[in-house]
Amino acid sequence: MSTTGSPPTVADVVAVLDRRYPPAWAEEWDRVGLVLGEPSTPVRRIACVVDVVPETVDEALAAGADLIVAHHPLLLRGVSSVAATTYKGRIVHRMIKADVALYVAHTNADVADPGVSDALAARFGLTGLRPLHRPRPGSPADGPGRGIGRIGELPAPMTLAELTRHAAAVLPATAWGVRAAGDPGRMVRTLAVSGGSGDSFLAEATAAGVDAFLTADLRHHPAGEHLAAGGPALLDAAHWATERPWLDDLAAHLRAELGVETVVSDLDTDPWTVHAAAPDRTTRSPDREG
Ligand SMILES: [Zn+2]
Repeated sequence: MSTTGSPPTVADVVAVLDRRYPPAWAEEWDRVGLVLGEPSTPVRRIACVVDVVPETVDEALAAGADLIVAHHPLLLRGVSSVAATTYKGRIVHRMIKADVALYVAHTNADVADPGVSDALAARFGLTGLRPLHRPRPGSPADGPGRGIGRIGELPAPMTLAELTRHAAAVLPATAWGVRAAGDPGRMVRTLAVSGGSGDSFLAEATAAGVDAFLTADLRHHPAGEHLAAGGPALLDAAHWATERPWLDDLAAHLRAELGVETVVSDLDTDPWTVHAAAPDRTTRSPDREG
């Protein structure tokens, strides 16, 4: 659609997104689809964000967006008030006053093919992609190529230490960066990746026989026990950085299907803002000896 033709409406955008990311594919606990907006409102520009927070809404409004597509639900749990005196109510008010619609594609975008982790896998040039966690057989999301996370082969094998530095370079920059668990010299050929919190897929990464698994929000006990049991090496990236790559794929799809303009947010919404590497432990004073 050109600027001289009539632009698509919110309903048109919803139809395109629901076709690529059917809401029925979302996990039962998830809340996806149209959150705010009049179906008949024209949409000329769409902002793509991971998180709906005051800063990304400011950015979208400043860019003249008519609709925001977000990965994380703004309203996941039941609410009894969206009064402007509450944090989320304030965001809802800002968007409604500006006549900006909001659409969420979360676990339905994770499971889709192509989905969130395909864009993450592409940053590493992984080939021969297959899902890490397949939907339950017979469930709405069950289908060829679909599932959460991706497994693939790196273009060339590298050590875990090299892969960690490589991951920090190819992922969107954050204060958190990337940390890894396991033998730094371990060779990695097959890599599993899962955008967002991948704690619950550790056993599946082990069962798949991958050399390493990159995800976010990993914790001390599950990670330690996973490694002690001989599981693949782990790379723990910033949550936002693992999902931000998908926004480019989302925006390209919206431009191709609807002829709209898109803006992709590079505003790092990861909560961690400072990172300090400890001084080299080999040259440090022997305060931990004895
Ligand atoms: Zn996430």
